[in-house]
Amino acid sequence: MIAVTKTWPASDVAELAALGVHDVAENKDQEARAKASSLESLDVRWHFVGQLQRNKARSVVRYADVVHSVDRPELVTALAKAAAQHRDAPLDVLVQVDLDSAAGRGGVAPAGVLALAAEVAASDTLRLVGLMAVAPLGGDPDHAFARLADVSRALRGEHADATWISAGMSGDLESAVRHGATHVRVGSALLGKRVSGHGSVRP
Ligand SMILES: *Cc1c(COP(=O)(O)O)cnc(C)c1O
Repeated sequence: MIAVTKTWPASDVAELAALGVHDVAENKDQEARAKASSLESLDVRWHFVGQLQRNKARSVVRYADVVHSVDRPELVTALAKAAAQHRDAPLDVLVQVDLDSAAGRGGVAPAGVLALAAEVAASDTLRLVGLMAVAPLGGDPDHAFARLADVSRALRGEHADATWISAGMSGDLESAVRHGATHVRVGSALLGKRVSGHGSVRP
């Protein structure tokens, strides 16, 4: 389980770590960078799960251990170059699959996954670990995650080590697990309901 701590303060990440949760995710570079730098001494793995602009690559590779949202060749190039300059170890990368072409929430269409994965795998400074997806809003998550499982099977046919399936959030994690998710990204079920703008509500 990866705790999604966006909108919540760094002190919550510290509390989670004290409780044994060492994987946390953020979706905005500015917020993630600030939290990671204030918690540098903490044993926490930072996952970046949001849509990522190319010009943020240099920032993200410095604190993130895993980037889940790689969805286009320009981003592969930018992350590979930034990782070469700013990291000692390769950056773990997931290709984000778009299961809902209408939504514009990022991701590459299923038909484009293998080509993009090949670009990641060809880089010395990136390590292809698997796939990430978000189920369509209002759609049937079982249908979406079954599709993702098919894409993952095809991916593992070419890249045996790319075993991660990052799928499932608070509302649909059971479905994701039924369809083979290896990592679920849980925010509101753990920390409370987020309110846009300021403040969030505890459960
Ligand atoms: C916010 C977010 C989550 C967590 O969503 P919840 O519904 O709060 O569990 C998971 N994945 C991504 C990509 C997110 O942006």
